[in-house]
Amino acid sequence: MAKDKIVRELEDLPGIGETTAEKMRAAGIDSLEKVAIANPHDLSENFGMSVDAAKKAVQVAKESTTINYSTGAEIFEKRMILGKISTGSDSLNDMIGGGIETNSITESYGKFSSGKTQLGFQLTVNAQQPREKLGLGGNVLFIDTEGTFRPERIKEIAKNSGLDPEDVLKNIIYVRAQTTEQQILTVERADKLIQEKNIKLIVVDSLTALFRAEFIGRGALGERQQKLNMHIHKLQSLSDKYELAVYVTNQVMDNPGILFGDPTTPIGGNVMAHAAGTRLYMRKSKEDKRIVRLVDSPSMPEGECIIRITKDGVKG
Ligand code: ATP
Ligand code: MG
Repeated sequence: MAKDKIVRELEDLPGIGETTAEKMRAAGIDSLEKVAIANPHDLSENFGMSVDAAKKAVQVAKESTTINYSTGAEIFEKRMILGKISTGSDSLNDMIGGGIETNSITESYGKFSSGKTQLGFQLTVNAQQPREKLGLGGNVLFIDTEGTFRPERIKEIAKNSGLDPEDVLKNIIYVRAQTTEQQILTVERADKLIQEKNIKLIVVDSLTALFRAEFIGRGALGERQQKLNMHIHKLQSLSDKYELAVYVTNQVMDNPGILFGDPTTPIGGNVMAHAAGTRLYMRKSKEDKRIVRLVDSPSMPEGECIIRITKDGVKG
């Protein structure tokens, strides 16, 4: 390898060919940073290279990775210009600091009919609005794991938005994922699509349903959490890299350990709890009203507000 070769990908490292690189990616070592902090002995054992070759690869990976330092003031500047997507409800927007944030994951959890999917539809329309109308002027990648995507409902919501409903539908890239593999791969391979189609919002409805269905019993819990963790991590990194918003829905279960108060607990345990920047707990109330509780937010206090799910979409 020439000394001044630019190292960008795993294959650019000495001693790592295409096959080894693929194996490493499959095992989650998918960046130079991860090689840089890997133990050469582990690499050697798991990917069939000599310890010396692994040491060399780690050394070159270390030399090729840089740490980007910023001041707090620079981050503040950057955050000030980040876009947000209106939820359709002023009171919900106020509660979460203006709308759904880019560069992070927003999760809603709640029982059936609590409005998680409806909020996803509303965001799918609103993301397409220009920035001055609290949108991101971009398109949407909608990953449907439950088969509840309804274009006719989105059209109905869009009619009320000032956008052309037909255009709104055309600007949605839809994937029906039937297995966790399909769900994970859709996100793993999204980079190109995001750039080509100017994707500014990714919806995963629901994030956890397939994981819950496929990994049953205590024995499978570790593997489920590990896969879910990597999946969420990829969503997070896409949101950072392309400054887009990610909205995921989550199912709930009744936690028998909670004797007093609300036993409703979101699926996904600690992995989910740490992943979402903003967590919303949605509950059905009278008529078209829904109570939305802000459970976790990086910058806003906990709170509760009431929204309405109407024929025209989310209001209130
Ligand atoms: P699940 O866990 O089953 O996926 P969810 O939280 O995603 O539930 P939603 O599908 O978002 O629930 O909410 C369904 C509710 O939204 C319906 O029960 C109804 O009250 C309301 N809704 C759906 N379509 C309309 C419409 N066209 N007009 C008014 N309200 C509607
Ligand atoms: Mg739903």
